Amino acid sequence: VNIIPYQRERSGHIAHSSLVLLYDVTRNRKLETIRTEFVANASHELRTPVTAIKGFAETLLDGALSDPDMTKQFVEIIAKESNRLEVIIHDILELSRVEKNSEPWETQLLDLVATGKAVLQLFKQASQQKNIRMNFSSNIDQLMIDSNKHRLEQIMINLIDNAINYSDFGGEILLAVEKVKQGALIQVSDKGIGIPEADQSRIFERFYRVDKDRSRNSGGTGLGLSIVNNLVRIMEGNIQVTSVEGQGTTFKIFIPINN
Ligand code: ADP
Repeated sequence: VNIIPYQRERSGHIAHSSLVLLYDVTRNRKLETIRTEFVANASHELRTPVTAIKGFAETLLDGALSDPDMTKQFVEIIAKESNRLEVIIHDILELSRVEKNSEPWETQLLDLVATGKAVLQLFKQASQQKNIRMNFSSNIDQLMIDSNKHRLEQIMINLIDNAINYSDFGGEILLAVEKVKQGALIQVSDKGIGIPEADQSRIFERFYRVDKDRSRNSGGTGLGLSIVNNLVRIMEGNIQVTSVEGQGTTFKIFIPINN
């Protein structure tokens, strides 16, 4: 009589641990796949500039150095591709840092309205080059938040950078910083090329791009939105995208403010 509950207990215990084990294996496999994909994508991205740098350097050493025009042209390409390499490596390291989130964030009390206006100034030259009008709006003069300044700037920078890259000549961009219930809303809107509906749920994935060539040509790495997504997650906020192809895109980020 005593053995039955004991067996039941034991079998219950075994069933339970088997389940946990299965779950772990599935999870580990998924993580492994994600990791392998990441390494494959990263290697592919890095290979393109490395191949160019190697090829042009070798051509120079093989004799092109005697031609000053060719030398200038090739060295310029080598410099451009080295910069690209630096940007990719920077973004990969940045993404891995924010995904790990092991370093504590330094926070300070800062004004999100002033921060937004200052970030917009950084894009003065880039927007002028494409004749893009940059607008700022807010429903409040000052919006104080205890957060990490660099990270908040990074979110806005990545979104505005995209808004410019995916807008055509003569476009218009709006950065809005608003006080809303229990937090702040940062909005970046453009009247650019838009994102097809089918891609909208995937743009936050690492290295995902709707148009690889356009992204690369404008200096994109396909990691900007993944970085933004992770930063917003760490801030316990959320991000939403709405977009209509050929009409424009709006990213809305809510960040909670605890008083
Ligand atoms: P990238 O470096 O390629 O811009 P992101 O991670 O920042 O990488 O964005 C992923 C992709 O989402 C981009 O390649 C682009 O296709 C799309 N995208 C992002 N922002 C916009 C935007 N404002 N308008 C249109 N497409 C966008």
